[in-house]
Amino acid sequence: MTSHPHSFSRYCMQCGQRLTTAVPEGDHKRRLVCMDCGFVHYINPRPVAGTIPAREDGRLLLLRRAIEPRLGSWVFPGGYMDVGETAEEAAIRETMEEAMLEVTQLQLSGVYTRPEPGVVVIVYEALAVGEAAVGEETSEIAWFEPEKIPWGELAFDSTEWALRDWTRRRAEG
Ligand SMILES: [Zn+2]
Repeated sequence: MTSHPHSFSRYCMQCGQRLTTAVPEGDHKRRLVCMDCGFVHYINPRPVAGTIPAREDGRLLLLRRAIEPRLGSWVFPGGYMDVGETAEEAAIRETMEEAMLEVTQLQLSGVYTRPEPGVVVIVYEALAVGEAAVGEETSEIAWFEPEKIPWGELAFDSTEWALRDWTRRRAEG
């Protein structure tokens, strides 16, 4: 998650001419268009998959980001999906990469959209298996009791939305 998710070429993928912004015929929004060959460069949101890993004792894992954006803030493990993997597989892989933690019993917890920069975050609650350790893009890991979640130091709106839903469900269930 180092670069802006929608960093892209300013030049046409078809013919190499410079792209301009225009509303294509039959469309209703401004797009990046090649005036030379008519190619339209659509920009779509990107899916992110992650887990909220919890142990039998009810504590959940958060990790401190070692990279921008929001360096130093707390987040649950997650990242951009790769082509060829399912959302569940991406969530499990990211949890292993960032927290060296195996998770099982994934259940969809929620889907959260951040219209800017255009990210759809798919969040699973999961059972943690074994111990966690500091992994890629992470400077610190910690297990939090639900009432001790550092609400003021979370990374993204979607981090807070997902953890609010998760804690509410825990309290009810
Ligand atoms: Zn072109």
